[in-house]
Amino acid sequence: MKHFGKVVSVLAGCMLLASPVLAAEKVRWKCAMTWPSTLTPLASAAPKLSKMVGEMTGGNFEIKVEGAEKHKAPQEILDMVKGGQFEMGHTASYYWKGKDITTVFFTSVPFGMTADEQYAWLYYGDGQKLQEKVYGKFGVYSFPGGNTGVQMGGWFRKEIKTLDDLKGLKMRIPGLAGEVFAKLGVNVTNIAPGELYTSLERGTVDALEWVGPGMDIKMGFHKIAPFYYAGWHEPASDMQFLVNKAQMDKLSPEYQAILKTAMQAVVADLTYENTHENSTAWAQMKQEFPNIKVMIFPDEILKAMKKANDEVMQAYAAQNPEFKEVYESQQAYMKKAREYSRISTENYLKTTKMVE
Ligand code: CA
Repeated sequence: MKHFGKVVSVLAGCMLLASPVLAAEKVRWKCAMTWPSTLTPLASAAPKLSKMVGEMTGGNFEIKVEGAEKHKAPQEILDMVKGGQFEMGHTASYYWKGKDITTVFFTSVPFGMTADEQYAWLYYGDGQKLQEKVYGKFGVYSFPGGNTGVQMGGWFRKEIKTLDDLKGLKMRIPGLAGEVFAKLGVNVTNIAPGELYTSLERGTVDALEWVGPGMDIKMGFHKIAPFYYAGWHEPASDMQFLVNKAQMDKLSPEYQAILKTAMQAVVADLTYENTHENSTAWAQMKQEFPNIKVMIFPDEILKAMKKANDEVMQAYAAQNPEFKEVYESQQAYMKKAREYSRISTENYLKTTKMVE
């Protein structure tokens, strides 16, 4: 009993020493999302982060999340985090393409890495180090924020059989993929999400890409465009946590560790939630609209896309040394990682298909 009492007092002593470190620091942050609060699973990530950080700090580190419906500036998250109006944000790196083209690599690029390959590059290769370099000039940190996996190539009202079918085709497809398609004669347009369904229905556009079954099903495109093409342009779109550098550096090492751990937990969670939503939505779509045809672009078109994409990437690399550095790092890492993906995942899928 005497011994037990001694243990308790030693433990109590440790707690007295340890607890004030966390208890003393009260931190109140705000996090702005690019997404409206209803746009799950993307909009699930920041609230989950906030909950985890709150629980791990006994409520002392509070992160208040604001959806786009409140702050009304979904495309200005980088500026708002840089300026300190929000200590952090949840968004996607390729939205900052107009400010710095090199930011595209931290979301996804056409014919690029799969999610597994990209996270390996980010966490264990040079990816995160390069991301810090690119975002350092904005006075912010950027961390992985969860992945949509392979996005679908989009909904087409007509089948695309030859390169001629792309000429003059009106399509909503943003980013680098839009630049690639424009080189092949596609009339690339940008339309607000709220007007996409009507545009496709009325023929203002002939085709559009959005995300994957889980998010596409809510938009209803499958009801009016039966050709669902396989992706080539966003094979692993990673979302992004932006954190104001000065605010992050001011946190205690304990809170920094908690925030980083929670971010990484949310990355895994969003990636799995997205896979769940996609599988569930695809099963429903297939059942309700059995006429949907999943297509892969013909060889001739894929080869032309790849060639146009290489030209786009090399043109940026020629004029921007930092772009070149990140492009080369990703390409070199992918070459190695892809060999492994092919002997493992690709072969496993082939193997199981043989016994289906
Ligand atoms: Ca997309």
